[in-house]
Amino acid sequence: MTEKLELTDLTKDELTAEITKIGEKAFRAKQLWQWIYYRGETDFDKMSNLSLALRQKLSENYTITRPKIITEQVSIDKTRKWLLEFKDGERVEMVYIPEKDRGAVCISTQVGCAMGCRFCHTGSQKFTRNLTVGEIVGQFMVARDTYNEWPSPTDETRYLSNIVVMGMGEPLNNLDNVVKALNIITDNEGISISRRRVTMSTSGIAPRIVEALQKTGVRLAVSLHAPNNTIRSQIMPINDKFKIEEVMKACAEYQKGDHSRYITFEYLLLKGINDSEENAKELVSLLKKNKLRALFNLIPFNPWPGCSFAPSDRKTVEAFSEILEKAGFAAPIRVARGQDILAACGQLKSKHPKA
Ligand code: SAH
Ligand code: SF4
Repeated sequence: MTEKLELTDLTKDELTAEITKIGEKAFRAKQLWQWIYYRGETDFDKMSNLSLALRQKLSENYTITRPKIITEQVSIDKTRKWLLEFKDGERVEMVYIPEKDRGAVCISTQVGCAMGCRFCHTGSQKFTRNLTVGEIVGQFMVARDTYNEWPSPTDETRYLSNIVVMGMGEPLNNLDNVVKALNIITDNEGISISRRRVTMSTSGIAPRIVEALQKTGVRLAVSLHAPNNTIRSQIMPINDKFKIEEVMKACAEYQKGDHSRYITFEYLLLKGINDSEENAKELVSLLKKNKLRALFNLIPFNPWPGCSFAPSDRKTVEAFSEILEKAGFAAPIRVARGQDILAACGQLKSKHPKA
């Protein structure tokens, strides 16, 4: 018996093609789409506006699968972390970071990550595989199941209002699947999260930045973490491949056509490595030289078992922020969330360390 086709792996066009292939009219695909992504239904039998015969045909040939929840933890600050498992037993973590009347779901794109950034817990876990389209979309649907946000609420009333593609993995190394998944999530006949409320973070795969943004229309964040190549190469091996100048050029290219596009530069502060006033001033020159419209997100380092870095002192972080702000760049200091359950940036991990 051949394996049933997973419907959440299909784009809207692919779903329409599939449904017409089995002899149904195209509008049936639209109804099915609404059941899956507007109502969050996983049981074909409950799709009441489809005929019994069609419902039977669907359950014989297709599946609608959610990643399985292995554990769920809630932090004292209400941040929630799920450990999710896919059909083949591979696992990732996902986090929900609530604010007062909204919040961001942080989703993963790969099992492990091949980039090996020295400060990152995920990077200490071997890269295993890319996530499929359905596995990426499925994460957000699990979050919606948990918070009972089906059918899709309006933009104003939903708690799960934003998405950050900042979990495990480098999204631009799984670009095809990430593009399809984000286009499903932002489709306005389904889950309907606005593209402006989705931010994708990359470690700086320069040649794919423009393409990724053109194909998704979401917002860009770049993990910069250093003002020059010497420091960056020490902490991010990817910098040996794509130097800061190339990343800056790609960012400028992305902003060229559209002045409303701001880029967020994430900057992790590591004690004694990249946190001096000198470093802050060099950073300002770098951005001014490249004429980028940008803001910073200063991230205090979140330690994890076995890491060799320490967070910068609070005073150092504040001085760093002040230099950037005086130069005209917003540079808020991010408040770490969910640290007690290892749910903060860079703390996600679903396996034991590299052998
Ligand atoms: N792979 C992508 C997205 C996931 S990482 C990227 O690197 O951009 C999300 C953010 O957390 C990145 O900016 C990353 O550099 C940062 N990060 C990694 N390890 C961290 C740690 N230990 N403490 C705080 N932030 C960390
Ligand atoms: Fe991968 Fe991002 Fe972690 Fe670097 S910081 S190892 S790119 S997940």
